[in-house]
Amino acid sequence: MNEKLEPLLALLRDVVEHWSPAGFATSLGIEDMLLLDVIDRYKLGIDVFTLDTGRLHQDTYDLLQRTRGRYHTPIAVFAPDAADIEAYVAENGPNGFYDSVPLRQRCCHIRKVKPLRRALDGKRAWITGLRREQAVTRQDLPLSEWDTDNNMKKFNPLAEWSTVEIWDYIRQHEVIHNDLHAKGYPSIGCEPCTRAIAPTEDLRAGRWWWENAASRECGLHPRDMSHA
Ligand code: SF4
Repeated sequence: MNEKLEPLLALLRDVVEHWSPAGFATSLGIEDMLLLDVIDRYKLGIDVFTLDTGRLHQDTYDLLQRTRGRYHTPIAVFAPDAADIEAYVAENGPNGFYDSVPLRQRCCHIRKVKPLRRALDGKRAWITGLRREQAVTRQDLPLSEWDTDNNMKKFNPLAEWSTVEIWDYIRQHEVIHNDLHAKGYPSIGCEPCTRAIAPTEDLRAGRWWWENAASRECGLHPRDMSHA
């Protein structure tokens, strides 16, 4: 057994015992498929949800579909507010997010941050698959922190896992995952804002690749949280 699996299980069980109701936000990326597998395999009883921005890759929708046949744990899907999308598109066009960082952040706010708020409504904590290795913006990521934006506890139980450890678990347990990973996409977001990367690039270099690395977060994980 991976030596990090026991601490991971202990942390998730601690979240259930002390921070219920907690929600696990899956982007259906490789880390999140690992967490879904653990939550389902060990029947941890943690609510799972995803944010359907409306701009995901077809491979991601295919994977979401496949989870229904593989896991007993359902994934609740939260969509953006239709009026928000219509207003944004009327003002900026469907791809206005390429025009400036504020317009990109506005699109992420409408399609991700606001649906996240709805998904977290009534929760005391949320769980993510973030890891320190993923980006310069995540190098000091703690295992748990206080999320001031959402006013609740946030757990990052894979913070210390390496890419090799993640893939070892995925292969050992034959965890279903996005076909895009094999095509050079270690980090997968919306289709128009994600590209494949070269092996030497930062794991999140393909996300909003036209922007400076320091601004490449979507607003779901602002780094102004107090560690706890
Ligand atoms: S990643 Fe791109 S398409 Fe998706 S919400 Fe953000 S700006 Fe919009």
